[in-house]
Amino acid sequence: MTIKLDILPMSSWMPESPYPLLIAGPCSLETEEQALDTARQLAKDPRVHVIRGGVWKPRTRPGTFEGIGSIGLEWLQKIRKETGLMVGTEIANAQHAQEALDADIDVLWIGARSTTSPFVIQEIADVLKGSDKIVMVKNPMNPDLSLWMGALERFNAVGLKKLVGIHRGFTPYQETKYRNYPGWKTYIELRRELPNLPIICDPSHIAGKREFVGEISQKAFDMGFDGLMIESHRDPSCAMSDAAQQFTPTDLSALVDKLVIRQQDTDNEEFGNKLDQLRSRIDALDVEMMELLSARTEIVTQIAEYKKNNNVMALQINRWSEMMNFRVDTAKKLQLNETFIKIMFQLIHEDSVRQQTELIDKVD
Ligand code: PEP
Ligand code: MN
Repeated sequence: MTIKLDILPMSSWMPESPYPLLIAGPCSLETEEQALDTARQLAKDPRVHVIRGGVWKPRTRPGTFEGIGSIGLEWLQKIRKETGLMVGTEIANAQHAQEALDADIDVLWIGARSTTSPFVIQEIADVLKGSDKIVMVKNPMNPDLSLWMGALERFNAVGLKKLVGIHRGFTPYQETKYRNYPGWKTYIELRRELPNLPIICDPSHIAGKREFVGEISQKAFDMGFDGLMIESHRDPSCAMSDAAQQFTPTDLSALVDKLVIRQQDTDNEEFGNKLDQLRSRIDALDVEMMELLSARTEIVTQIAEYKKNNNVMALQINRWSEMMNFRVDTAKKLQLNETFIKIMFQLIHEDSVRQQTELIDKVD
């Protein structure tokens, strides 16, 4: 079922621009000087639409920099006055929401930790009710589509119509190249469920490191995201949070220069773009499937060790039949072709047995 949220298209509230939405600014505002200097430099790039700055930082562990607090809202106001750009910050509870409203901050975003809690979302929605703020909702820490949609629905239910989704990846369950697991599948599902919702990507928090932000940004445009939020600090080496992933404003402009943003102008191009987007989604899903297979191999290795220590042979036929039945049942529920799933798991299982036999037979 696709739900149509009662929302306004981005073009009705964003200043007109030939570029897709680009939000840039420090992870955290630290000093008035750092905030204004960074913003002034960013504002020189006409592609930057909104200056971001974290004021309240909901950190996973206590004892790290938790934000400069309310005074940062005044710095955002100064940035808006000087640069003429919109300003945005994260709000994580009712008190933040009220203060951000009082300071007339243009863009309020909900962090991944907050989206995880419907109580917090409702509390914030109750405060924002009656305003016409732009509210951007990051995905929750875990790839739970309902939580993400639920938050957007709660804001919509109190009358907020300038809504945007922000995809910032998910907490990985194993060590990965990126800080967060991109989980493009969940983005694709959100697009399908809420077709009129603008969705932007936050490649900074997916990447965790500067070197990966470019490739994730390109992927995001190829997959049809409506814009980007990228962290930028005048001197990332001394940033008080997320130092490794921030860019100087000059480096940020250089990164954006390299991105290929396909326009959706003529019919033909549109066809090409659509195909590219769909192919790019397939590429992303295939990489995720391989990452899952790699996680599976890891477990196969642990099982092999365990069997070896207990002197059990690699292949156990009972387990194999049970396992296949369960997979075929699941395939039916997912409307996948049974024969295909059988063959696929035969191959996967054969390879597991091969890996286990090799490990078990290996002389220590
Ligand atoms: C942030 O944008 O600085 C932030 C804390 O992001 P997230 O909620 O995605 O972790
Ligand atoms: Mn950050």
